[in-house]
Amino acid sequence: MNPNLPSWIDLHLHSTASDGELAPADLVAAVAAAGVKVMALTDHDSVAGLDEARAACVQHGLQLVNGVEISCRHDTLDVHIVGLGIDPASPQLQGHLAAQMARRAARAQVISTRLQKEGFPDLLERASAGAPQGIPARPHFARALVAAGHCRDEKDAFAKYLSTGKPAYVKMDWPSLADAIGWINSAGGVAVLAHPHRYKLTRTKLDLLLRGFREAGGRAVEVAVANQEATSVQQLADFSCRYGMVASKGSDYHGPSMRWVQPGKMPALPSRCTPVWSLLGIQEPQKI
Ligand code: AMP
Ligand code: MN
Ligand code: MN
Ligand code: MN
Repeated sequence: MNPNLPSWIDLHLHSTASDGELAPADLVAAVAAAGVKVMALTDHDSVAGLDEARAACVQHGLQLVNGVEISCRHDTLDVHIVGLGIDPASPQLQGHLAAQMARRAARAQVISTRLQKEGFPDLLERASAGAPQGIPARPHFARALVAAGHCRDEKDAFAKYLSTGKPAYVKMDWPSLADAIGWINSAGGVAVLAHPHRYKLTRTKLDLLLRGFREAGGRAVEVAVANQEATSVQQLADFSCRYGMVASKGSDYHGPSMRWVQPGKMPALPSRCTPVWSLLGIQEPQKI
């Protein structure tokens, strides 16, 4: 495992505007306390937390990068694309994100029905309680299962019910990789292939995914997230260099309950990588 080093920049963070545990202002306070100077809020299929985060960043002296993390489908895979430096007011982007939330609302009904078939009482109300727009994501169901005493923790709830192939996993009609990249590019952002190592692909399939991503207009690879293996960071650094893509890094912090992930802590980018912040007009503090 690579050490999770404290960093001045964290380009992957979640708040209660999606499945994070902290409200945007509280998240910013936690990120600032970790010594981070530049942060991106990258909520799943939502830009609703950005205004609150921006105001809190002003208070704490942080620079905010407008972000989002879009769910899409590529072949048989659910893939996440982070958009950095997007214009959150883009009407096209907002329209597409509204459609994503409608897909999520429909899925929540199906998840709830599937869990009932597993013998649990209707958890929809409980899962919706803390969810943005009352639309629960899978972690909200996981928390409801834990709160009702049916599962030990969120990991357990995913392993038994919510992960791919488990009884309450619902195959989604997410947009294509090319569509998600197009939305980000048309909103003026940089599309980043999020946490490629988590898709558990063979080297050949990972290579195909990265090439497909590049050909569809993607410009960056997330080379380092919290707790990532050193070999995986090196492999992704090699791929990003080979395909002329820049490199991003972020913790993918969702809140304090997962104690092994902390804001601002992830492996360093290998020095051969060109960092994504060079495209965002951000300079490393010591280089100023
Ligand atoms: P959704 O976007 O509703 O499909 O939920 C996906 C989210 O669930 C991810 O962004 C993670 O935050 C969380 N997640 C996925 N797998 C796990 C797992 N095995 N344990 C805990 N959380 C997970
Ligand atoms: Mn998440
Ligand atoms: Mn993700
Ligand atoms: Mn994420």
